Amino acid sequence: MSTVLASELAVGKIQGWHRDRLAVVYVRQSSRQQVADHGESTRLQYGLAERAVSLGWPASRVMVIDEDLGRSAANAAERPGFARLVAEITMGHVGLVLGLEMSRLARSGRDWHQLIELCTLAGALLADADGVYDPNGYNDRLLLGLKGTMTEVELHLIRQRMASGRLAKAGRGELALPLPAGYVRHLSGEVALDPDEQVQAVIRLVFNAFGQLGTVHAVLGFLVGHQVQIGMRERSGPGKGQVIWRPPHQQGLVNMLRNPAYAGIYAYGRSRTDPSRRLPGHGHSGRVRQLEAGDWAVRIEDALPAYISVAQYERNLARMAANRARSDSQGAPRQGPALLGGLVICGICGHRMQVTYEPSKRGLTGRYCCQRRHGTYGEPRCQQMAARFLDDHVTAQVLSALAPAALELSVSAAQQIEGRRAEADRIWQQRLERASLMCDRAWRQYQLTEPENRLVARQLETEWETALAGRARLAEEYERYQRQRPVQLSATELAAIRALAHDIPALWAAPATTIADRKRLLRAVIESVQVAADGVTERVQATVTGPAATKPTPH
Ligand SMILES: [Zn+2]
Repeated sequence: MSTVLASELAVGKIQGWHRDRLAVVYVRQSSRQQVADHGESTRLQYGLAERAVSLGWPASRVMVIDEDLGRSAANAAERPGFARLVAEITMGHVGLVLGLEMSRLARSGRDWHQLIELCTLAGALLADADGVYDPNGYNDRLLLGLKGTMTEVELHLIRQRMASGRLAKAGRGELALPLPAGYVRHLSGEVALDPDEQVQAVIRLVFNAFGQLGTVHAVLGFLVGHQVQIGMRERSGPGKGQVIWRPPHQQGLVNMLRNPAYAGIYAYGRSRTDPSRRLPGHGHSGRVRQLEAGDWAVRIEDALPAYISVAQYERNLARMAANRARSDSQGAPRQGPALLGGLVICGICGHRMQVTYEPSKRGLTGRYCCQRRHGTYGEPRCQQMAARFLDDHVTAQVLSALAPAALELSVSAAQQIEGRRAEADRIWQQRLERASLMCDRAWRQYQLTEPENRLVARQLETEWETALAGRARLAEEYERYQRQRPVQLSATELAAIRALAHDIPALWAAPATTIADRKRLLRAVIESVQVAADGVTERVQATVTGPAATKPTPH
């Protein structure tokens, strides 16, 4: 580097009191790779010590800070050298800070601006290959700020380039994404259904059960009740690639139903990290936001072997969204006696009507009331009505609509239950088969050892015994399970289902049936009740929407 030029630039900036303090050379390369590749630049950075001497500092007053050489940490907390530099400046020991490219002193913009600020307060100068800067001078300060900004832009470009490289690869469906349970990747990179039949059967069972039961919660209940576990492949560690069985959980099932891979869709960029929610000290962590299907970066259909059709996948998503919307919007007071809280829609303005309660002689009296226009625009309330009359009317309608359909429903319900139990039973059979295989294998290995090799023989014998015990335990568990839930519904169970169908009105009125039960039953068959009160006659026109009844009836 040209010390002459540097000296010229430094004229007027370097004062005697600057030279009374230290000149600090800060050496860093961001990664070990760079240290290896840029030996030249490291040599130049150490050369800065000579430069300090040529600018008038005695060699003994030049301090080299190089603890950060080879550290790639992007924030100052993980770079002890930078921290030491800051400490020296703050204590007023430093007259000049030298770096090869000043903007490299601090990789993140915030650190850089902090450094400039500190040098300004302490009266220290900054120097790089291009010259000497006095941060207290307007032009120099502008230049330093610009250099920092340019580094930020450069970093941003590098990150973007890396991300777009991944994206281009994903766009061709070539980026190997982590596979969900039920899939394996061959050495060739090709993705296939898991060759383990039991793993496949469980995945199919989950999708079938959701199709029939309609909520993740019910599917989870079924899997837990039948002791079905999810088989997945170990992603790393010594057992990499082996099947492990894990108990199902709510979020896992949600992820499974949401995962487009099961419908054969290769998807990339389904979520985005929100950097504004990043936690300090957690690097690239941040709040992950799921994107709508239309906003995914890549979506390729028919790219993977499928468990379900795309149509079924989309139906499942819609169903989960509807379940969510229902639990959000129907959050009316659960204990209150108004049965249709959250289900009543105003026939005048189309908004959901609210439930209000007033104390009365018989406890709480509920009213459905449309507050929307009143609350939002200060207009008069559309309408309101006593909850009990509307509840009675809709309940009667629902019960009468249920009666004839109920028997038919009960038969198909029984068939569905039997179907799901048969699937669960098949999975039990596979578990038993697997346990037997393990026993056979352990027995063969034990047989093959030479009797002289006692240590190995003893170990293999133990393994064989463990496998036998495991099989016996599983067989017992299966027996117990079978007693509880035989594949064929018992006559008692069938009778109970039929009786339930016949006795719905009695069941409804039974003292043991709580308000919450009644609400749950109504929500199972009703989506909404649209009401329009005729102010003159006090009649209410109610339209019930849902699978139970759709015809409008005057009340
Ligand atoms: Zn209204």
